Amino acid sequence: MSDFKKESHRGAKISIDLAALQHNFQQVKKHTINNKIMPVIKANAYGHGLLQVVDALADADGFGVAQIAEAIALREHGIEKPLSVFQGFLNAEQLNLCFQFNLRPAIHQQWQLDLLKKNTATASIDIWLKINTGMGRLGFQLADVDAAYQQLHSNPSINQIGFMMHFANADEPAHLSNQQQLECFKNMTDNYENTVTSVSNSAAILTNLLPQQNWLRPGIMLYGASPFANKSAAQLQLKPVMSLHAELIAINQLQKGQAVGYGSDWVCPQDMPVGIVNIGYGDGYPRLATDSPIAVNGQKCRLIGRVSMDSIAVDLRGIKCNCGDEVECWGAQISVDEVATSAQTISYELLCNVGRH
Ligand SMILES: *Cc1c(COP(=O)(O)O)cnc(C)c1O
Repeated sequence: MSDFKKESHRGAKISIDLAALQHNFQQVKKHTINNKIMPVIKANAYGHGLLQVVDALADADGFGVAQIAEAIALREHGIEKPLSVFQGFLNAEQLNLCFQFNLRPAIHQQWQLDLLKKNTATASIDIWLKINTGMGRLGFQLADVDAAYQQLHSNPSINQIGFMMHFANADEPAHLSNQQQLECFKNMTDNYENTVTSVSNSAAILTNLLPQQNWLRPGIMLYGASPFANKSAAQLQLKPVMSLHAELIAINQLQKGQAVGYGSDWVCPQDMPVGIVNIGYGDGYPRLATDSPIAVNGQKCRLIGRVSMDSIAVDLRGIKCNCGDEVECWGAQISVDEVATSAQTISYELLCNVGRH
């Protein structure tokens, strides 16, 4: 297996470390008893490249995506493992595709049950019955779960009915709602025999919420970023998978009092070298990043001034470098979580955004 690089017609360069991805998958495994693992690979595997990531995760028991089209791309790539689709089907045509490609959709609305009732497919599929235990996004209200279950149970084209929920605050382990959501889920699933369950995202896996569930759904931890604000990926023994590089294209000796960038809000406190790097928000570098860490020729320094569409400026005081040197925006040396924090967002958004460019 080889790592792959993607060079746009712009200066930015994404590299994906598949060995790091596999290392992170092993970290998920450390939290399993005999649970199955469905890596979550929605949004182009969080920007890392859907098919490359899937091929590297040969030990996965299945995969999780948000939308039907993502799952079909995997089937067409030859993946035969169980594929869960968290938003389920959106219309009769997509329901047919679930049967045709043997996909496992989440069911969260009565109109989906109605479409299923009308369906004449001779095949059968597994489904997830998605429950709202507190996330307030997709899922049946508790009072409606049993009626939904009975409709699915009496439908001959449905095999296994699994129960699924999602945490709203797993990234804050001490948050009261975590236990409340779990209690709610356990009370509800206790009403049925031999239930198949899926509850945990990365944060819930790392805090061992409900260890005895059937299917774990890790996303961000596989990509080597931390779901927690106060714990780094390195502390969690996760390795960064994506690196984003660009090039130092100018070194300017500016004088004390000279301004840098739009708005002129950064002003040189002394005579100093300022570097210009050929990456900007047009490449997915976050425009709101402020004072973020960055590495020029392997040395850590700081972003200064506002992020432009095609370039950023860096403080080169004390940095040994030349024009043409490599700049790491995030990757092995610079944590994507730190850059995200400096831009008041989360690593998820940065990774997805860059992967789109
Ligand atoms: C995105 C997603 C996950 C993965 O979440 P991470 O925080 O990235 O681990 C799990 N389950 C569902 C339903 C999701 O939408």
